[in-house]
Amino acid sequence: MQPTRVRFPARGLPARVEEGSGFRNPIFMANPGKTGEGDAAGYAMNSGDIIGRDYASGQPIRLRWQDGRITHREPAPAPPTEDVWLAPSLVDLQVNGYAGVDFQDDHLSLDALAAATRQLRAAGCGRYLLTLITDEWPRLTARLRRLRSLRAQSPELQHAIAGWHLEGPFLSPEPGFRGAHDPTVMLDPTPAHIEELRAIVERDPLLVTLAPERTGALEAIHRAVECGIKISLGHTNASAEILRQAVQAGATGFTHLGNGCPRDLDRHDNILWRVLESEGLTVGLIADRIHVSPSLFRLVHWVLGPHAIYYTTDAMSAAGAPPGRYRLRHLELEVGADQIVRLPGTPNFAGSALRPIDGIFRAAAMLKCSWREVWPRFSLTPSALLGWPGDLQPGAEATFCVLQFDARDQLASLRVCCQGTF
Ligand SMILES: [Zn+2]
Repeated sequence: MQPTRVRFPARGLPARVEEGSGFRNPIFMANPGKTGEGDAAGYAMNSGDIIGRDYASGQPIRLRWQDGRITHREPAPAPPTEDVWLAPSLVDLQVNGYAGVDFQDDHLSLDALAAATRQLRAAGCGRYLLTLITDEWPRLTARLRRLRSLRAQSPELQHAIAGWHLEGPFLSPEPGFRGAHDPTVMLDPTPAHIEELRAIVERDPLLVTLAPERTGALEAIHRAVECGIKISLGHTNASAEILRQAVQAGATGFTHLGNGCPRDLDRHDNILWRVLESEGLTVGLIADRIHVSPSLFRLVHWVLGPHAIYYTTDAMSAAGAPPGRYRLRHLELEVGADQIVRLPGTPNFAGSALRPIDGIFRAAAMLKCSWREVWPRFSLTPSALLGWPGDLQPGAEATFCVLQFDARDQLASLRVCCQGTF
């Protein structure tokens, strides 16, 4: 795999930017392979091979896999007859709900969770961190336990829900910084909270977003690092010095930069400037062209460089669903035809209605480059933040996207192979 060839702003490659055009999902595998034992949902490990162009190099390659893992990657004997591309699956580190399903719902059924997961997959996302937002600590931990037990009932979900993201309750209660999170149930983090979380999720990957200015946060970050929990800073108004101390303690991410802060900021000193001057943080951006304006989106890329940026949807239940009224925990949110998720009575956004694949094309449009150049920001970089290998190489999971474009260079179909199964 070549290092990602990213130029910002880039002009070399055609921009295929017409998103969400109701693409279809035809079969175009070279060999769909042998299907093994599946669960009730038809999920199965199998073997097979496929020819397509590598999204990074543009070269025709053939991938072969067995028992859910890539066994061979080799030059294809001939280019694919169609305009077919192979790319790592999208990985979304922040998904609060999808396709009408609210993951904060304590009555969430296995079927609903599976349906939302399949819709995410249809939109290019083969793995994600199921995200829970601020709530009373006992309720939040009970919800996490319940979701884990739901996931354990399905091999499909065990693979797709790669881990958990707790966004809260250790956040800033300041207006603007708290976003849609309930400040009355926020807490100061302690090592005991961290240890409790680790015990609940056992060995699962876990990302915790917290505000480092909260009392005890630095100690909690230290403990999290010892426990193998990743810390992302966010919903914070921390000083530059506290941000630096948090990075030194082991924080590695920053959650949805440009959001989780007031709309109006001091032009001389604000959380954006402080993060842009910080070193050692991989910064998440909601790539829907709404939460972060195109100009700010471009500026963050220029200042930080693309390798320090990952994309997320921060999707809530309205994502992948028609406009209407949706729930995010106890909040009823209005989602318009513009896909903006509005918190009633405030100018604040509350999660997005973005589909992962649309995030790719919106990011490419904002950066005026090809989808191929932004693809790593929504696949390899979030994988790397969690310490996962994400590339299409022998030994890696056979989890990847197959994109097909039509004669007008528009996305015609998208399929995701998860552990060797379409
Ligand atoms: Zn948030």
